[in-house]
Amino acid sequence: MSQPRSQQKNVATDTRLRRLPSVSALLEMRDASVLVERYGRVALTHAIRAVIAEARNSLREDAAEPPDACTLLERATALLEREEHTSLQPVFNLTGTILHTNLGRALLAEAAISAAVASMRDSVTLEYDLEQGSRGERDEHVRALLCELTDAEDAAVVNNNAAAVLLCLNSLALGREAIVSRGELIEIGGTFRMPEIMARAGATMVEVGTTNRTHIRDYRDALNAHSAVILKVHTSNYRIQGFTAEVTAAELAVLARESGVPLMHDLGSGNLIDLSRYGLKSEQTVREAVVQGAQLVSFSGDKLLGGPQAGIIVGDRALIERIRQNPLRRALRIDKIRLAALEATLKIYRNPERLVERLPTVKFLSRTRSEIEIQARQLRAAVGKALGDGFSVELCDCSSEVGSGALPLETLPSAGLAIRARIGSASGAVEGLARALRRLSRPIIGRIHEGRLLLDLRCLADADGLLKSLAELPSAWTAQPPNQ
Ligand SMILES: *Cc1c(COP(=O)(O)O)cnc(C)c1O
Repeated sequence: MSQPRSQQKNVATDTRLRRLPSVSALLEMRDASVLVERYGRVALTHAIRAVIAEARNSLREDAAEPPDACTLLERATALLEREEHTSLQPVFNLTGTILHTNLGRALLAEAAISAAVASMRDSVTLEYDLEQGSRGERDEHVRALLCELTDAEDAAVVNNNAAAVLLCLNSLALGREAIVSRGELIEIGGTFRMPEIMARAGATMVEVGTTNRTHIRDYRDALNAHSAVILKVHTSNYRIQGFTAEVTAAELAVLARESGVPLMHDLGSGNLIDLSRYGLKSEQTVREAVVQGAQLVSFSGDKLLGGPQAGIIVGDRALIERIRQNPLRRALRIDKIRLAALEATLKIYRNPERLVERLPTVKFLSRTRSEIEIQARQLRAAVGKALGDGFSVELCDCSSEVGSGALPLETLPSAGLAIRARIGSASGAVEGLARALRRLSRPIIGRIHEGRLLLDLRCLADADGLLKSLAELPSAWTAQPPNQ
């Protein structure tokens, strides 16, 4: 009696599946012992199981012959090698955004890197007072420096600026009212939204004014016995333009003094130096915000400051002390590695004349268009050669951005390379190239604009490294053809 076709097919599949080598057979192969030595038996067994499962699935899908033991072990090796790759990969940031939040914001100064490494390798005096031989205070390592650089009375440091804002509001306004202008209800990066932070801090948000216009009388009218803080927020990633009115921090400071309700100023980026010397619009510095009379000023460590992720709070001694006593502070504290990096970064600011050479963020900010163009000219031919005949590479003008919500409307004239697919190339060739560049062992991240891949060279510190990476391209292309 003849079987139905589908059953015949099942029998054939079962036969092929049975011919797949077993996990133990693969583990007993001679080459496996080298892999056990290198990756450990557990990881190897795991990888072998994964490749066998994959082979079993594809045997069910098509009528191919089962892979032999050697092939499977090779696949397991490749899988183990892929898993060895760091997930948090160093890349070339050629996006033109200096402080790219998704690419880790500021690059640290060498002094900060060394300090961070040293703090990892040894026990450190994180909360230890060497003089007294007793428990010390984490903030102590940067407190004097921050006071010196900002003219504030006291300073505290936490995990990031979002934590700083949360902690300040919770310390000052738990169960009470926080007054803020409707024009300053910011959202940053999707999850930091002022109304929600207020709610989580346990403060009742009292909105005053309108989206485009807020007046000092709006704040004054909102003040009452439950008022705990007046909050001024830097509108970091947007500008309200047109028919507008904003109350300055200096005016609010006067109201704060009169009413006895403290003013907190969330500066966001918080630069310690005047940026106009680098051709940027002059933004208020932290020192200016302190001098204007805000009782608390908060800002990030890894935006324009150019340090590690951190949230810095400076201001009035009594208020900072209250913040230190808040039990939430423990949950929001900074670790020793970043604290070490922050201390080293702040020390660089004691000698502003040498910032450009020492602090990568300031170095990138201060590079001129013509300087970058010279670099682009030097690289153009070599990049063109590495990309092959399918693409043309030209010099182009770029507009860099500071990023991370600092100076949202400002652009810095820059230069770079524009890569275009030559006539006759497959459609999607530029996207394919961008993908191939992201798959290099040190990925190159550019930006596609109007059909061209733009590489803004403002943040390129290692041109030789870039060319070395590009040299991998032919193999990367064969491994992952661009039209896939
Ligand atoms: C960036 C920013 C924050 C959040 O700072 P993080 O360091 O990203 O936590 C808060 N407030 C303002 C105004 C900002 O610009």
